[in-house]
Amino acid sequence: MNQNLPFTPKLLERCISCGYCLPACPTYVITQEEISSPRGRINLMRAVQIGELSIDQTLEQSSYCLGCRACESVCPAGVEYGTLLEEWRSAAWQGKNRNLILKLLLFAVNQSWRVRLLGIFNPRNFQKSKWNEYSIMLGCFERGLFPNVSAAAQKNLSINVNGNQGCCGALHAHNGELARGKEMAKKLGEQLPGKIITTSGGCAAHLASVIGKDRVFEYSEVLFNQVDLLKPVLINGEKARVALQDSCHLRHGLQIYQQPRAILKQIADFVELPGASDCCGAAGTYAILRARDSKKVFDKKAKEIEKLNLDFIISVNPGCTRQLATQLKRRKIKTKVMHIAEFVALSNSINA
Ligand code: SF4
Ligand code: SF4
Repeated sequence: MNQNLPFTPKLLERCISCGYCLPACPTYVITQEEISSPRGRINLMRAVQIGELSIDQTLEQSSYCLGCRACESVCPAGVEYGTLLEEWRSAAWQGKNRNLILKLLLFAVNQSWRVRLLGIFNPRNFQKSKWNEYSIMLGCFERGLFPNVSAAAQKNLSINVNGNQGCCGALHAHNGELARGKEMAKKLGEQLPGKIITTSGGCAAHLASVIGKDRVFEYSEVLFNQVDLLKPVLINGEKARVALQDSCHLRHGLQIYQQPRAILKQIADFVELPGASDCCGAAGTYAILRARDSKKVFDKKAKEIEKLNLDFIISVNPGCTRQLATQLKRRKIKTKVMHIAEFVALSNSINA
């Protein structure tokens, strides 16, 4: 890329302005304004690229976008919107006086030793490494907030753990520090040689984009190969009624969405959530930095979940787990939220 230009020209040129992406974009659906659509945002990027607008004039839209990449899945021209967004935020946000919470989050996960502190109360994270074909990625905030998820994945798949691992850098890459985010992913690839399993859809997409998809596997991709061995999760003798909330980056970035469904169909009474592929509003740090907009994005999903009368809504990403739990509790909807690895552990199946 020309070092003086904020965007890689060939990525920006690919958009043919057809508008197919508009109905898929959650912020466009809410506002019905072109400027809050993928095409509108690409036009803002183009205006910056040729000097018609300053980067500062586009700050609001660079932040209002969820980064969900739903626009990529419907784009006939193959626009890599997620990469453009990372370049946009890197150009627009670096050196700016950023939100204190975001600064603290990025600081906390910037070094491996600090990330290890996030999981200090979980002895599993400090097991001696016994390398085999796969090692598990513990994540940064997942190891602090949801330690049972990687523990369940370890149990279900009998994989090993190396506690001496940092963060994959997705948080940095999605928040204006793309170069640092890539550096952190490379470093994690060195700390975990061989194949890596992650229980976070967002991390899987970022890590795979830097170290290669052939080394990175999302949990359900691997478990899918043993799906026939799984036993049902029963509630009062009946299969639990569940639906899945897709992870945006897992679905739109890596096209992984059939595998978790196949697993859930095997062990539960699976029903499809109508808007399962629509962003839940978690979107990395979005739910923290733009809480009001995040709630608006969730409104439709809350109604859908309530209507289905589920026992569990299953997630494949820690950010989605947190968002679903927080937003459902706020609306007094009783459906339980669980990561797929924890739900599979309930089936007491392949290691039984
Ligand atoms: S991003 Fe893709 S779908 Fe959207 S306007 Fe451009 S070419 Fe069309
Ligand atoms: S990433 Fe999501 S919110 Fe952003 S433009 Fe694409 S569809 Fe819209």
